[in-house]
Amino acid sequence: MKRRLLAGTGWKMNHLIADAKSYARILRHRLVGLDCSAVDIFVLPPFTALAAAAEAFAGSPVGVGGQNMHWAESGAWTGEISAGMLAEAGCRYVELAHAERLRHFNETYAKVRLKVNSALAHGLVPVLCLGETGAEKAAGRSDQMLADQLDTALADLRPKDLPGIVLAYEPRWAIGAAEPASAEYAEARHRHIRACLAVRWGEPAAQSTRIVYGGSVSAATGRDLIGQDDIDGLFVGRAAWQPEAFAEIIRVTAEAALAKGR
Ligand code: PEP
Repeated sequence: MKRRLLAGTGWKMNHLIADAKSYARILRHRLVGLDCSAVDIFVLPPFTALAAAAEAFAGSPVGVGGQNMHWAESGAWTGEISAGMLAEAGCRYVELAHAERLRHFNETYAKVRLKVNSALAHGLVPVLCLGETGAEKAAGRSDQMLADQLDTALADLRPKDLPGIVLAYEPRWAIGAAEPASAEYAEARHRHIRACLAVRWGEPAAQSTRIVYGGSVSAATGRDLIGQDDIDGLFVGRAAWQPEAFAEIIRVTAEAALAKGR
């Protein structure tokens, strides 16, 4: 199965509207002459910069997405934003269950399940984060945690829905850290995630689901990770907050797509 590779970055709470426009201008310039036709590229700006970023990237290979959303269509949910609102702002993607949402904002996979359903209903691609904490890893529970997170968040999906989602394996102990997980460790978790998908939704659905790696990856460390069979992309925080650096990550991903025949 030829899964298209992905290169994405979440800006977290960084970049004003002017920064987003300048980022887009520089990244677009850097992508001229780089064959990234085999790669899906996305940036996840803060809500306030979404519409400006969507406009600034219009007509380019770069898609825009939100970093979170509410599951309801509308209503008395002060401070929240819906899937329809993200779509209206020009989003194609939405990140769900990031470790910082789980840790600081009481996000749970039960709520994320509702968000996944709403995102898909609005034509958004959910980028669903999965990952174990350092304590869970130390206790040998990484694979069990990943299986539980998948089971809960994707409970309502049918096999045909799976190509429309992106899974982001982001070990929580590797986010904001000095270095990423080793390629061997990450590949083993990705393989496990794909095996869980196969058990529940069948082999064809599992083989068509993209699973990207995130957690302290850069262009330098990404090459090894993206070279692994079951790693379908790189999802980057700090190392892609500058457009020049993200362009390098896209280059590494495009080269891997060529090498993998994707
Ligand atoms: C993240 O927060 O999802 C992330 C991957 O961040 P960093 O690359 O900075 O570890």
